[in-house]
Amino acid sequence: MNIEELILDAENNLKEQYKNIENIEFYYSNKILKAFKDNNVSENCFTSTTGYGYNDYGRDTLEKVYANIFGAEAALVRNQFVSGSHALSTTLFALLRPNDTLLSVSGLPYDTLHEVIGIVPNPSSLKSYNINYDQIDLINNDFDYDKIKEYLTNNKVKLIEIQRSKGYSTRESLTIDKVEKVIKLIKEVSPNTIVMIDNCYCEFVEKTNPIEVGADIIVGSLIKNLGGGIAPNGAYVVGKKDLVELVGERLTLPGEGMEVGPSLGVNKSFYQGLFFAPSVVASAMKTATLTSYVLEKIGYEVSPKYNDTRADIVQNIIFRDKDKLIKYTQGIQAGSPIDSNTLPIPWDMPGYKDQVIMASGSFTQGSSIELSCDGPIREPYIAYQQGALTYTYGKLGLIEAIKKISE
Ligand SMILES: *Cc1c(COP(=O)(O)O)cnc(C)c1O
Repeated sequence: MNIEELILDAENNLKEQYKNIENIEFYYSNKILKAFKDNNVSENCFTSTTGYGYNDYGRDTLEKVYANIFGAEAALVRNQFVSGSHALSTTLFALLRPNDTLLSVSGLPYDTLHEVIGIVPNPSSLKSYNINYDQIDLINNDFDYDKIKEYLTNNKVKLIEIQRSKGYSTRESLTIDKVEKVIKLIKEVSPNTIVMIDNCYCEFVEKTNPIEVGADIIVGSLIKNLGGGIAPNGAYVVGKKDLVELVGERLTLPGEGMEVGPSLGVNKSFYQGLFFAPSVVASAMKTATLTSYVLEKIGYEVSPKYNDTRADIVQNIIFRDKDKLIKYTQGIQAGSPIDSNTLPIPWDMPGYKDQVIMASGSFTQGSSIELSCDGPIREPYIAYQQGALTYTYGKLGLIEAIKKISE
């Protein structure tokens, strides 16, 4: 089969998967439209403040919209967060105090948090403030429920971090069913422990979000799912009011908290990005599913498989071949709208142990809700692909990448 025939065959066999994705797109679009209506989103919301950013009506209304959508008490949705990692770091520094213990129950956290926590030494880490860190690894792609129960029975834990998406690990991402089960256990054994979720890449993938199953606070990036490819930067935090307020006090300053922070012209982009997000996430999900089906068909290992339940928008292709990983990534770059003529090569990226190759031909720097692909140069040479603003552009990028590995 040539590439066009391969894609046609895949699409004929993916009707059921696409229908499920469209069903979730409808569910969230409806939810967003209702939240816009209930909060009276009007043209006034697109005006913006400068300077201190007091009385930023658009910003404050958007935060109510976010809180509604997640079923949470409060939200902080800000362009002052430089990234998802910054929002995660700010949340940890806001909620933890010296001699507290932070426990990860989903194994080693995302690479950029290693210096935040002090797993990799840094003079500004949580560890430098005497905040302890401990970790319980996953077993068979699920939480180690027995070990978590035992740990919480014998130790006082201030905050538990759960990272749903796999990062650069080889594990599976954590579906909401598993998250629900572990939160239930945590709250039974240790009701006062704060449950914080790194929700990056998981928004609008499943119908239930972690707040609805008992999480206290969740964090994510706006250059991923909820920015809809429109938000130029930023991140969000939603959850219990007292906790979100503490994060506001840490992001700005004690005493001013969420009341300051000028939106500097981004309000309209944040609203519009959120409005598009269910459809953009659906495009990314279809592109991931198509990639999984086609790459498996031509002989590569993939995870998740096309008919697996997905927790996030990330598709892995396990190449077991360094050259193939590089070629594939270069193909995605060549099939991107911006910088299609540059050739990505592996490089030593700050914060990462191995060399990394990255394709990101995106409108927004580093945006990974746009079609993007990256991978550390180490065994078993896995490509981590995510995004696509539209399904058609996702498909076109995939065709370029398949051509490159077939040369
Ligand atoms: C992307 C990501 C982050 C960090 O987000 P940035 O906006 O890139 O800083 C954190 N955790 C996970 C699981 C991610 O995928």
